[in-house]
Amino acid sequence: MTLNTVRNAQIEVLKRAIARRHAELLEETREDVGRDLGQAEISRDVRELEKLEAALARIDEGTFGRCIECGAEIAFKRLAVYPVATRCAGCQGIYERDLQSSWRGETVEDSS
Ligand SMILES: [Zn+2]
Repeated sequence: MTLNTVRNAQIEVLKRAIARRHAELLEETREDVGRDLGQAEISRDVRELEKLEAALARIDEGTFGRCIECGAEIAFKRLAVYPVATRCAGCQGIYERDLQSSWRGETVEDSS
């Protein structure tokens, strides 16, 4: 197997995991709304749903697994832990540092 074949096989596993988690969470969120759960919990599920939907959209576009900042392949180790990651580790570090500066009152582009 070539390196690319391995990568594609790994990505396929993640795609299925994301689709499955999305279906589960959609169902859970429907139940949450019926069960009168706390707003915080519902918001958290909705935020996760949005991330999963964005990941599904990137799968459709064929850009899943690529960093939205630099276009590099996101390491599989990172995606395995956090499949909805949109940035490689390097760009995520820069993004978080910029985010922290913006909390200190400096302006920064919101690229999310
Ligand atoms: Zn990057």
